[in-house]
Amino acid sequence: MKTFSIAVFSVIACVALASFADAETPAVDADKAKPKRISFAFVNDIHGQLEPHPELFWSDDDAQREHRAGGLSRIATAMDQLQSERPHGMLKIDGGDTFQGSGPAAWTKGEAMVDPLNALNLDLAIPGNWSVVYGTKQFQKLSSMVNYPMIAANILDTATGELVFEPYLVKEINGVKIGLLGFTDPDVPTRQPPHMSEGWTFQQAEVLQPLIDKLRNTEKVDVVVLVSHIGLHRAVPLTSKLQGVDVHLSADTHERTYEPIDVGDAWVVEAGAFGTLVGVLDLVVADGKIVDRNWELIELREKAFPENPEVKKTIDEVLEPHRERMNREIGHTDIWLERYNVMSTSMDRLIADAVKESAKTEVGLSNGYRFSPPTAPGPITEADLWNWLPIVLDLKVGTATGQQFMDYWENEFENVFSSDPERLYGGWLARPSTNMDVEFNSTDPAGERLLSLKVDGKPIDPARNYTLAAGARAGQPDDQIHRMKHCKSTETLDRTTHDAVRNYLSKHSDILDTGKAPLHCVVRPDVLRSQYLAFIKERNEHEKNKGHDKDSETDE
Ligand SMILES: [Zn+2]
Repeated sequence: MKTFSIAVFSVIACVALASFADAETPAVDADKAKPKRISFAFVNDIHGQLEPHPELFWSDDDAQREHRAGGLSRIATAMDQLQSERPHGMLKIDGGDTFQGSGPAAWTKGEAMVDPLNALNLDLAIPGNWSVVYGTKQFQKLSSMVNYPMIAANILDTATGELVFEPYLVKEINGVKIGLLGFTDPDVPTRQPPHMSEGWTFQQAEVLQPLIDKLRNTEKVDVVVLVSHIGLHRAVPLTSKLQGVDVHLSADTHERTYEPIDVGDAWVVEAGAFGTLVGVLDLVVADGKIVDRNWELIELREKAFPENPEVKKTIDEVLEPHRERMNREIGHTDIWLERYNVMSTSMDRLIADAVKESAKTEVGLSNGYRFSPPTAPGPITEADLWNWLPIVLDLKVGTATGQQFMDYWENEFENVFSSDPERLYGGWLARPSTNMDVEFNSTDPAGERLLSLKVDGKPIDPARNYTLAAGARAGQPDDQIHRMKHCKSTETLDRTTHDAVRNYLSKHSDILDTGKAPLHCVVRPDVLRSQYLAFIKERNEHEKNKGHDKDSETDE
């Protein structure tokens, strides 16, 4: 199993399916040995993106841009098509971070998402780390409004100690018993501002193995599917520690796993974000064992899938009261503004420069957020601004020494390029204003990666104080700005990151370019779509080469 290449598998799968499709017609339940096909469609991290939106697809560094990809109406078409091609049965699963990430989602506390989601007839979903953004009560309300169950094995009601959601679901399709287990990010109370998750306690991954054993031994399932929202870089090592998981549907890091990641006998996959892609997984099960499998990540490009008119109508109705606000123009861009890069991005250069200008500081910082599909050339609207910055933060200013900036960058590099995948955090670097130049070598040891740091073209002076600004995160220490600790003279301004961008655009529109990239790694391309997938690719190539060396040794 482990050694199947995908291409080889597909051929085997087609032959196998063609041959057993007829043979299966007189369904005999007792015949466990007969191969049976089951399928799953997977989306994750929709982040409030109800409608088709500008999108960037890439193969290696070659970017292809589309103006109207994705959207729940297009997901509906794709899922209907996938389902009709799979009469044996297909479960439709959402990996979480669904109700937050856009203006309409924020303005309705997620409720704008409900009707369009219900039109998809999903089979189940799990909560993401942003599920708590409107408070735990509101998430429970949203969960009761959608027409599919929410599962999570590790969220307890703090007051009662009881599980808030069912930990797992058992479903049977085509005579195959499937255990679906939900696991959300246990670090929600520290990743999100702590007040958001008040009332809930999150448990670590230790809860999973006993539940997998229960699914296998008591529920007698044939297949175990773990659905998690902890990020691909944590999902992969977690899978290797668990016994009895067949498939791990991962979410949170918005990774596009065109090829599944092999972990022992299990596959780990993630399906991008913003409703731009749907993953489809086909398994062939015989005698309680998976004998064949195939994964495909389907790009919901405009030409490939028309919008489902009924779902589109539902979305139009839901958005109607918000259209005026969404369409309000705040600027204009002649270039694509994008955020799909580990290093510098055009969207964050604009935001960091806006923060710097608004706060009148020497340096501005933008978080390494993963939110927001690209913004295409044309008007920049309030809807775009809320996609870029779905959480409105007050601006916080203060001072830090050059040495603190140097330490800050070393910490950022370790978060993103640590040689230990379990230490990876976030996966994207913070983005400074364009007057900062950061040069580094990601392969150097922790604490020694920074090669040069300049502000306004001059090498940073470790002893000098510099003024800086960033959005103030609720619950962070008073003397912290972004992840820079022990800042001096900190102050929260009566002005938000949104105000900063609006003011900036009122002065600087048209956006013709966003300056040069302030982050430069000397051993990596400036455009790096995913640090973790690059890491996996390098590791696989390394192992393959090791294998070749061994082969040639034994041959000799
Ligand atoms: Zn997430």
